[in-house]
Amino acid sequence: MSKIKLFEEMKKYGFEQVVHFYDKATGLKGIIVIHDTTLGPALGGSRIWNYESEEEALIDCLRLARGMTYKSSAAGLNLGGGKAVIIGDATKVKSEAFFRAFGRYVQSLNGRYITAEDVNTTTEDMAYINMETNHVVGLAGKSGNPSPITALGTFYALKGALEYKHKSDDVSKYSYAVQGVGETGSNLVRYLIEEGAKDVRVCDINKKNLDKIKTEFPQVKVVNPDSIYSQDVDVFVPCALGGVLNDKTIPTIKAGIICGTSNNVLLEENRHGDMIKERGILYAPDFVVNAGGVINVYHEIHGYNRDNVIADIKLIRNRVIEIFKIADAQNINTQQAAKVFAENRIKLIKEVRSNFINR
Ligand code: NAD
Repeated sequence: MSKIKLFEEMKKYGFEQVVHFYDKATGLKGIIVIHDTTLGPALGGSRIWNYESEEEALIDCLRLARGMTYKSSAAGLNLGGGKAVIIGDATKVKSEAFFRAFGRYVQSLNGRYITAEDVNTTTEDMAYINMETNHVVGLAGKSGNPSPITALGTFYALKGALEYKHKSDDVSKYSYAVQGVGETGSNLVRYLIEEGAKDVRVCDINKKNLDKIKTEFPQVKVVNPDSIYSQDVDVFVPCALGGVLNDKTIPTIKAGIICGTSNNVLLEENRHGDMIKERGILYAPDFVVNAGGVINVYHEIHGYNRDNVIADIKLIRNRVIEIFKIADAQNINTQQAAKVFAENRIKLIKEVRSNFINR
């Protein structure tokens, strides 16, 4: 891996602040990146990972923080993008003191960064962090499990895509191939079936999750994971891993729409976004589709109310339509259009707020 030139990177992509921290008492070490706070405090989860090098941790943190700026902006939230990575083996490093030490570093940023759960961190860990700072969301008893909300947002995105492509968002008229029926995929299958979908095909590599979905919805058809891309259906719904849309899979996809909960679903954003566009497939951009989780925790900051969350989630339907229109008007792929959409909001709000108003 090439040596990263941090200040060049910060200048190129507009990163505001990069904080390295090390706690002598617990051995806690990591990085907090604040990408852009034009719209509000930088929010992003805390990830624990045993990175092979410090540089790998830094690159990951920079990439993830920037992704959060786009996600929150596109979701219409008054939040900037940030992220924390903690370097270590999650099975060994965790303790009350470890997370309280981390909470103190979060507090030292005085609300410029708000943390949350991510890979290898839990609501219990957030409770320890909360002993040292209020700048933490996703606490037990507040917004709760984000997965059903993420799936609901994806369901509305899917309706937007159906409307745009077929001029009807009647879910019952179409067929679906769902890759992965874990936390988000199983909830999405439920929403589809509740709305009258008759042809829902699923796959998973975890037999337990397949058994669970078959028990709940005996009408779903289980297919082989390798055949999921080439199912002759209207919508391919990736709800498993990132990077599944690539040189190998894109040519085999028969569906006219791709819309699922998976993060970073395009292996190479620009190239594979273009490949999908050239094939005439309508791709609903992942970070717009799966913003339910961040929308959900955002509401904790202002006093959590489930009805307000659901109202915000429903906006995803028309938001994806707006993005599809940008893509068509500018002849760019929909992932690029989503970025244009997110950047435009940041630019506009920056301009709107450039004058002095006494409040
Ligand atoms: P999960 O682990 O609960 O479910 C993923 C499922 O995919 C599992 O059942 C797993 O066995 C299955 N799977 C893994 N590899 C597979 C393969 N090759 N073929 C078929 N199935 C496979 O995870 P989740 O929370 O449902 O998240 C799914 C995706 O959505 C991830 O990319 C995640 O980053 C993204 N996402 C989740 C949330 C959320 O609120 N949970 C929010 C935003 C984005």
